[in-house]
Amino acid sequence: MNTTPENPVPRKISAIIGLLIAANTSWVSLPAAIVPTPDNVACAVADHQAFTQPDQLHLTGWIGTRIVANEANRLVKIDVNRLLEGYRKRPGRQSWDGEHVGKWLHAATLAWVNTGDAALRAKLDSAVVELTKCQLEDGYLGTYLEKDRWTEWDVWAHKYNLIGLITYIRYTGNMAPLPACRRMADLLCNTFGDEPGKRDLNKAGSHAGMAPTSVLEPMALLYRLTGEPRYLDFCKYILRAWERPNGAHIISTLLTQKRVDKVGNAKAYEMLSCLNGALEYYRTVGDPKTLEACLIAWQDIVDHRLYITGAASYGELFHDDFDFPNVADVGETCVTVTWLQFNAQLLRLTGEARFAEQLEHVVLNQLFGAQKCDGSGWGYYVQMEGRKPYSSSLDGHCCLSSGPRGIALIPTFAASTDAAGVVVNLYDSGTAKLNLEDHTALTLTTETRYPADELIKITLGLAMKKTFAVKLRLPAWCKEISVQVNGQAEPLNPAANGYLAIQRPWQAGDQIQLRFKLEPRVVVGDHMNSGKLAVFYGPLVLAADACLLGNQFPNLKSMALPGVDLAALAFKPEPAPDHLRTWPGAQVFQVNAIDRWAFPSNAAPAVHPIRLIPFADAGNGGSSYKIWLPVGSGQLTNLLYEEAGKRSRWGRLAGSITDDDPGTFLTCGYTPADEDWFQVTLEAPCLVRRVIFINGRTFHDGGWFDASAFRPRVEVQTTREGKWKTVGLLRDYPATTATSAAGLKGGERFVCELPAATKIFGVRVVGRSASGDNPKLAFSSCAELQAFGD
Ligand SMILES: [Zn+2]
Repeated sequence: MNTTPENPVPRKISAIIGLLIAANTSWVSLPAAIVPTPDNVACAVADHQAFTQPDQLHLTGWIGTRIVANEANRLVKIDVNRLLEGYRKRPGRQSWDGEHVGKWLHAATLAWVNTGDAALRAKLDSAVVELTKCQLEDGYLGTYLEKDRWTEWDVWAHKYNLIGLITYIRYTGNMAPLPACRRMADLLCNTFGDEPGKRDLNKAGSHAGMAPTSVLEPMALLYRLTGEPRYLDFCKYILRAWERPNGAHIISTLLTQKRVDKVGNAKAYEMLSCLNGALEYYRTVGDPKTLEACLIAWQDIVDHRLYITGAASYGELFHDDFDFPNVADVGETCVTVTWLQFNAQLLRLTGEARFAEQLEHVVLNQLFGAQKCDGSGWGYYVQMEGRKPYSSSLDGHCCLSSGPRGIALIPTFAASTDAAGVVVNLYDSGTAKLNLEDHTALTLTTETRYPADELIKITLGLAMKKTFAVKLRLPAWCKEISVQVNGQAEPLNPAANGYLAIQRPWQAGDQIQLRFKLEPRVVVGDHMNSGKLAVFYGPLVLAADACLLGNQFPNLKSMALPGVDLAALAFKPEPAPDHLRTWPGAQVFQVNAIDRWAFPSNAAPAVHPIRLIPFADAGNGGSSYKIWLPVGSGQLTNLLYEEAGKRSRWGRLAGSITDDDPGTFLTCGYTPADEDWFQVTLEAPCLVRRVIFINGRTFHDGGWFDASAFRPRVEVQTTREGKWKTVGLLRDYPATTATSAAGLKGGERFVCELPAATKIFGVRVVGRSASGDNPKLAFSSCAELQAFGD
């Protein structure tokens, strides 16, 4: 058998790749084996898993398709002049524009190692020359004018320039940019420190100093590369700076409070960047407290702050336990990538499968969900519902240069080696060339359509029979696993590190056959998603997509799932339609849905099949999508949810009254008027029996209805854009006046029962705005206007 194909990319995938890249790119001309530039200083802590150099591992299934697309449609197409513009003509177009070139150098170098694309290598070489030409006499390589130095994001840019250039030096062997790296690092060492006359690094940038102090990661790398002791001293200074009164207290807070949302200002991207640096520092010097703090951070994020897709932030911050709004600038891609890096670091250092489990989860869901399927664009915030905000521009988009780094790192951890043998972390078709600790060379050739098919065949190639362990990650989501070696079933007893280790004499042609039963799973929503369901298939989070609803449902809002049990969903995978076939195994998933607005009756609601799609592929063509789907029709469902809310006139505060979140509210009015209203109109009519008005907030100068002249009333439209008719009053509304809120508080609910179920096109609550202590003003407020079928 041939386990070392000359061309690592089989023909069947070449056809797909051909669609993704221009015909004249030279990506298949692989370089001769790359020998990485060695470090001058050994690590104090040996890695449990040795990660794989990307030229040794080529994936050709779904994951491989995304990796190829990242290189061919994004990294090689980047305009280097755009990356360098802020360096050539300081200051750049905005304050953190300097970060992009270093992030690109990091991703593009890894991608070039993987593909050998000569065009990308040429671009890398010229970018490195041009970037280092921009370095100033004193070593400064940021985009700020001299007078504005070290005020915000220029240490941060030096960090990325160091990361990018060190990666380039490591894999190309071209040492030319090393002096530029040393001069950057020397400038930092000479400028910042706790000795008299030096600047405070905490003050050199944003987010409680976490942005500038995240330069820890490349300073540790540069210390190991050069052996220069002052770079290690600078790392130690950063750990001291974190614990100074104005620092982020990263390690001490994690060790004592065990919560990432209490660290610094809770900014997720900068904090995870610091933690990745802390792990590089731990690897370098072996300080056990830094590892302990990072493991605490990881556990806290997994237990309390991780969205089901692997996103870890909203509004770019870590928040309180289980505080997971679906839409609130959720899922910054920079956070997704630094979370991936954090797991990859922990996997290398500890060799525990739980980190590989998180890697598969974040790659197949949030990371792929943020990458446009053809690799050409990325989303900044990739939320649990809405539309994917794909963009190709770097302007104002930190995430656009982060996403490609995450994809480019995948070949490093998909398979690895450890002291006992080889480790399989991700399952995708392709080939890995690995070396055991004693330098025995072997190959793993994987054939599978996972996660579209449950069967995975891994064939070993090696010159001579040899005893070692093959460690397999058994996915935690899978209830039914079988593993066979050459047709013989293996007992499934994972070791303490989570891997199934098969220790035996191996020889060329031995075949491991895994079956991970792919099944649908439902997750019943809690906290902010109570009353909703999310559906998984194997490792994949699924979403409803407006382009897959069929004719029965005009939009995503109109559908619900019929029940919480799988039987009610009648789940069935099927091949994706042609226009959604982003790779040969692409699937969609038929489930039963019901009309969310159907009024409950004795008869079960009519079911209509729709198709769900992996979150990774959802919304790729610009359609809207939704992960958390409401269950049942009528009773539980606010029929006005996400419909168009309006007020009778302008007001100072403009929140939503249809987001089921009383924390956001709308005010209406400024000067006194006879009447004001808050209203919602519907795309399609629904049957309503009860209307609920939730008060917004009571201020000293207004924010409520004055009930002295008339009680607030509920009006509805029974035809589209028809006349408004009064159907009831807010009977329990307190006896307020123009000047007194009579104890009314924000968030208080008032119910109006309609005399009979009524088909409505619109509903509004009408009242007179109150003035409070300022008779010149009058305004009212509304947090939510809701309607229910029963
Ligand atoms: Zn970002």
